[in-house]
Amino acid sequence: MNYNDYFEQQLGTLKEDGNYRVFTTIGRQRGKYPVCKYQGDRTDVPEHITVWCSNDYMAMGQNDAVADAMKATIDDIGAGAGGTRNISGTTDYHVALEKSIADWYQQEDSLVFTSGYVANFTALGTLGEKLPNCIIYSDAMNHNSMIEGMRRSRAEKRVFKHNDVQDLERLLAQDDPERPKVVAFESVYSMDGDIAPIADIIRVAQKYNALTYCDEVHAVGMYGDTGSGVCEQLGLLEEIDIVQGTLGKAVGQVGGFITGSYNMVDFVRSFGAGFIFTTSLPPAVINGAFKAIELLKEAHQERKDLHEVATQLKAGMMARKLPVMPSTSHIVPVLVGDADLCKQASDMLLSDYGIYVQPINYPTVAKGTERLRFSPSPAHINGTHVADAIQAMDEVFDKLGLSRRG
Ligand code: PLP
Repeated sequence: MNYNDYFEQQLGTLKEDGNYRVFTTIGRQRGKYPVCKYQGDRTDVPEHITVWCSNDYMAMGQNDAVADAMKATIDDIGAGAGGTRNISGTTDYHVALEKSIADWYQQEDSLVFTSGYVANFTALGTLGEKLPNCIIYSDAMNHNSMIEGMRRSRAEKRVFKHNDVQDLERLLAQDDPERPKVVAFESVYSMDGDIAPIADIIRVAQKYNALTYCDEVHAVGMYGDTGSGVCEQLGLLEEIDIVQGTLGKAVGQVGGFITGSYNMVDFVRSFGAGFIFTTSLPPAVINGAFKAIELLKEAHQERKDLHEVATQLKAGMMARKLPVMPSTSHIVPVLVGDADLCKQASDMLLSDYGIYVQPINYPTVAKGTERLRFSPSPAHINGTHVADAIQAMDEVFDKLGLSRRG
């Protein structure tokens, strides 16, 4: 085989389909979020652009106290962790963060992984593999990290229709009541912005003695009185068995976690290859996450601002008949429905208006549902960011002749 030709030909197909990913290089400027410097190759883009597609949802990646905590940690104990968690890679910062996360979710214990992806992959992979004869019930829209974890576990999998509790119950009722079961779902689905019927999922799962596993990646820091997520907001922290989350989005760092009972966490810690066989996160990152979570627990005004930006953006775009998808969360997806046009719209927003929204294409979303996904932060409440985004979208939809709502 000519490997090079094969790679080139496959990439060519991606390009023809409009699904080839081109990264936009940006210079994040501390204290200026959501404004960044454009550092890509295009000459038609203004020097400063407004980022509308970051998952730094609570601007913690730019927070002074968080950055100071990270610097102080480096001054204190240096750069890397120096080993896996088991072999010299556990510092008191790691221990303190896991305690803080467990407290935040009112759980007995928690475990930090190198990313949210690895947390899902490892936790579901381990539970599915090690619970004898386990069946995993998976929402049809679950994230790739969960799907790959289930696949790796080789457990039997049943996919229930998205957010459809009746379908979940139908599947649960068909299986042997004695077999171990895990129901895996997300709270906020990041591409559509809809929210799972968590109370009903838990009720049905409990009826069939299934463990519940909720990915709160797009809710951590933003929902509930202390901001831990939708389970907290709905008063379900006592009911849910396992919450999985990320330190990479609203917490502004990198890393992931699971939290739940002491024995469940200890089980994944003791059997999960994706936890055991990798270097632990640098202490500065861990302490940055610790500081950010302390701030997030008290960030009541910032949460209000975040949701206010989302409300204003949705209302303003809908008033112009732009096809905002029916999101019930802070995420604001606008349907374009064609990969090429979606990329053109994104390119035009960047060059003509200095607005940066990455096109979301297949395989992240189904073909024909390509979209522009706006992710607000509390920082977008300042100045004219919201009004500018609405006006720019209105003009871009006109220029490209894109379909509006009927
Ligand atoms: N779960 C969901 C629902 C996600 O959207 C993502 C990433 O975007 C992850 C897990 C992975 O999290 P991380 O980015 O921390 O690896």
